Parts: sequence; structure tokens; C-alpha cells
Amino acid sequence: MAFTSNDVTISDDSRRELFFNKHVDYIANHGNDKNDYEYCMTEFLRMSGIYWGVTGLDLMDKLDRLEKQSIIEFIKKCQCPVTGGIAACEGHDPHILYTLSAIQILVIYDSLGEIDTELIAKYVESLQQLDGSFFGDRWGEVDTRFSFCAVAILSLINRMEVIDLEKAVNFVMSCCNADGGFGSKPHAESHAGLIYCCVGFLSITDQLHRLDCERLAWWLCERQLPSGGLNGRPEKLPDVCYSWWVLASLTIIGRLHWISSEKLEKFILSCQDAETGGFADRTGNMPDIFHTLFGLGALSLLGDKRLKSVNPTYCMPEYVIERCKLKPKVIVL
Ligand SMILES: [Zn+2]
Repeated sequence: MAFTSNDVTISDDSRRELFFNKHVDYIANHGNDKNDYEYCMTEFLRMSGIYWGVTGLDLMDKLDRLEKQSIIEFIKKCQCPVTGGIAACEGHDPHILYTLSAIQILVIYDSLGEIDTELIAKYVESLQQLDGSFFGDRWGEVDTRFSFCAVAILSLINRMEVIDLEKAVNFVMSCCNADGGFGSKPHAESHAGLIYCCVGFLSITDQLHRLDCERLAWWLCERQLPSGGLNGRPEKLPDVCYSWWVLASLTIIGRLHWISSEKLEKFILSCQDAETGGFADRTGNMPDIFHTLFGLGALSLLGDKRLKSVNPTYCMPEYVIERCKLKPKVIVL
């Protein structure tokens, strides 16, 4: 029998349990060896790596396994005193992606007062363009990911008023396609990661009514393959990180039940590394911290009781979002 789509095969004896303690150790030990090859190779996204680790551990209620104070000191050293933006790592250029990661870490630690949030607000404001879009940094690439980062950062520091919100919303809506999905810029192909950014953006800005939810949900639920895994675009292989992006988007628009949770859970659990802990993108591949967070996050959205509940819009623990008194919108059917 021929399958036209790319997919993976999961054996029937696949692991069904969550290797909870192994994942705690995997994340807590990540980056301990500063000479480690992987650690050196990921310098350019160190700040996001810390966010993935901090969030993953908090979802497992093991945040105390990391050194809070040294992480905060690291973030302070990465803030550019001129532009206000935060870099992935000391000595690198600031970027809105790492600025969001740093703010998310500080908010989880309830330590926003440790940095200059006024400068952060100025930085985000400086990246908005006349058409409402956002640059990611001073080099000037436009992408709907950066629109999400901008409103996520500003809502977390309670400074949403510094940008032109109406223009920002209109730009994001100009990236909506006939299939109900969103791309990185107007007329760009729909992609699950960017759909998550745009749906998250509309959730934070209370504009979910502008979505064609039925059409979008169809596109999203068609991402589920016979293996149970989700892909990011038609014809692509399933990947654990798309479990998060697709599932979080479906959760925000109130249609999580449009996919098979049971099959997806089985796929995600099959991507765990039984020896080292951590999740890989697909069954049998090497685990990494990025897929570990999104695997845990997706399991939390599916209702796994061993994990704290995660907020689908911010990908941060729900209790943290409540503590900030933020109310990102979700559609309740
Ligand atoms: Zn992935």
C-alpha cells in the first residue's frame, strides 16, 4: 500500500510512559559542561535555550534545579545599554527573539525589576515599521514571528501602548491566506509555526474574531498523519515541535478536539530518549532542549497531570500568566 505523505512508523511496543526524572536531569544538566560541543555550537541561541530549559523544568515543578541568580546575572549582561534589546549571549547583537526569551525567563522568576524594562519598551517601539510590521533587529528582516514577539514582550512588561496596535494588527491580518493560515509576510505560504505566532498575536491583542476559525482549524487538523504526529506543512515529516505549534493554535481557537489526542500523545512519547532523557524531533533521533520543551508543553496541553498546565499563547506556565494578571484570549465553543 502506498502512502503519498511523508510519515514515520512507530512500533506497537513504543514507550507509553513519560520518563519524568530523566527529563529533569536532561534539562538540569544541559550546558553544565561548558566545553561540550553542543553547548559551544548553540551560543547564538543561548538565551532561548535557557528559556526552553527554565520553562520545561517549571512545568515539571523542578525549577530549583537551576541557579536563578546566575541566570539573572547572565541576562543583565546581555542587555544592550544603547538600544535596550537583549542578545542571545554576551557580546552578540540584540534581537527581538532573544529579548522575548529573556523577558519570559525573568517573568517566570518574578524578577522583571532586575532589568531596565523602559529600555526594552523603547527597543520594541524602535523596531515597528510604518506598515505596522516589525523588524527582528536593526538589520531589517520582517516576519510575523517578530509581530508576536513584540506584543508578547510588551504585554509581559505592561507597556503595550508604545506601539501602533491597529497598524500591527492590520499587518498580521494582511499575512492571512485563503486556506485560513498565515505566512511570514503577505502572500507567503501558510506554515504552522507562523500560524501559532499570528494566532498568539491575535490572542494577546483580543482580535481572535478576525480569524476564519473553521477554515484555519481544518488546515491545522490536516497536519495529523497516520503515525499520530503533526507536520508543519503539507507533505512534510511529523515533528514534535509542531505538536506544540499546531496544538497551541487549536487550543486558542477552541478546537483541540479536532485531532486525535491519543495518537498524538503516543507519537510524542515515542520521541523520548529512554537513556539520556529529553525529546527528539522524531522517533529515534537525538534529543535536544528545544524539542524537549515543546514535547512537554504539548503533553501539558493534552492534559497530562504530571505536568503543570501551560498557557497556549505564551508557552509559559499558566500560574505565571495568572500571577501577571494577563488574560490572553481563547475561544470557548
Ligand atoms: Zn522540530
